[in-house]
Amino acid sequence: MAEIFNLPTRLDKISNELTRQFKVNLFIKRDDLIHPEIPGNKWRKLKYNIAQAQLEHKTTLLTFGGAFSNHITATAAAGKYLGFKTIGIIRGEEYTPLNKSLQFAKDCGMKLLYLDRENYKLKNIDALLTTHDSPLLSEAYIIPDGGANELAVKGCAEIVDEIDIEFDYICCACGTGTTIAGIATNLKPHQKAIGFAVLKHDNLLEEITENLFIHNSKLSIQNYPFGGYARTTPELIQFIKDFYKEHQILLDYVYTGKLMYGIFDLISKNYFPENTTIIAVHTGGVTNANVFEA
Ligand SMILES: *Cc1c(COP(=O)(O)O)cnc(C)c1O
Repeated sequence: MAEIFNLPTRLDKISNELTRQFKVNLFIKRDDLIHPEIPGNKWRKLKYNIAQAQLEHKTTLLTFGGAFSNHITATAAAGKYLGFKTIGIIRGEEYTPLNKSLQFAKDCGMKLLYLDRENYKLKNIDALLTTHDSPLLSEAYIIPDGGANELAVKGCAEIVDEIDIEFDYICCACGTGTTIAGIATNLKPHQKAIGFAVLKHDNLLEEITENLFIHNSKLSIQNYPFGGYARTTPELIQFIKDFYKEHQILLDYVYTGKLMYGIFDLISKNYFPENTTIIAVHTGGVTNANVFEA
């Protein structure tokens, strides 16, 4: 399955007034280029899950997500390219016409089923078994919400293996925190991982420990929610446009825009010592959250 993916991904140097003034080296790891429809950390998280599904001779992938989930679209596309049927359990009610993400998933062949918020929270698909195609549901390989499981952590750890320069910090935008948790499991003693939370969490480190059984002293969290998940401010949108103008790299407004804004903010507050090398992971997301199409 390797040949359709652009791996390993390259590092691009980001050099501007700020990085020069504060004497830091900043690189962006272009995981957004892994695949046009299965970009970034979504492929990293799916890779070993799909291998496991193949091992178990499963022909259907079932997963969960909100109506704007990049994980849903990525799973739908992965199914299309790699020969799996896919089922997406979507939180809440159906709205028609479908939004762009769900229409894309449907066009990839994904069967979309809707679960009310209460049953969704419990991941109780029994509520669907009575009314829908129950053998398909019960025999599917199940991937949790956001692709957050141990096999996903294993896939995300490989981001670090591909980096062929010395670095001090590695930064990534966090939803569930699976990607940064995987990265943190694969660092040298002097290296640190910073997760940039893009939604409001009470305690993301605690959630990572509870959900993924990972407690890692190299991992810390910074909060840049800009009001909450998928919320934006005019300042964030302008930042993403300016960043594109200067570096010709497009960031999405849900995840990677907030990540890069946060990194620049920390640089300007002298968070990183002089001569520090920082890697920012571009996890993708631009197709579903493009400032030039919003
Ligand atoms: C899903 C997603 C994330 C968050 O990944 P987690 O492993 O859930 O923290 C970050 N960036 C992009 C572009 C995403 O689509």
